[in-house]
Amino acid sequence: MRIAIFPGSFDPFTVGHADIVNRSLSLFDKVVIGIGKNSLKQSIFPVENRLQHIRKVFKDEPRVAVEIYTGLTVDFAREQNAQFILRGIRCVADFEYERNMAEANKQLAGVETIILYTRPEYAHISSTLVRDLYQHGQDITPYLA
Ligand code: ADP
Repeated sequence: MRIAIFPGSFDPFTVGHADIVNRSLSLFDKVVIGIGKNSLKQSIFPVENRLQHIRKVFKDEPRVAVEIYTGLTVDFAREQNAQFILRGIRCVADFEYERNMAEANKQLAGVETIILYTRPEYAHISSTLVRDLYQHGQDITPYLA
């Protein structure tokens, strides 16, 4: 069985994230979305809310699971018996970071990273942008999955 984890902060989970997961289901039998709990990163949306929201998005898709994890992404991959890490790339600015992470995770645990390119219509959507709009009282529902 081909299992991938999709790790991220998902603060919040956007239409761009959902699109990556949906498209990856033609590659994998199961995708586990991993909400990384990073004590150094200040979040806006409580992690439990993010978990409930993402579970609701995929309530009709039994091949998608959602979990919270702490610690290294490769350890979460091992726990989930995942051979793959799924990530999205929006623009060249994402590229160097993703390449370094992929190389590190490959060396640490032999896990392959599979990259999907963001659809152009979602390429400008980042959790950072959505958080910013939210904090300034804008309606963010069009950006949420
Ligand atoms: P992280 O804090 O690990 O970068 P994010 O929650 O920001 O986590 O993103 C998780 C993954 O989703 C990353 O691979 C990121 O490139 C991808 N991603 C972020 N925004 C979008 C988008 N609009 N469309 C597609 N993929 C995206």
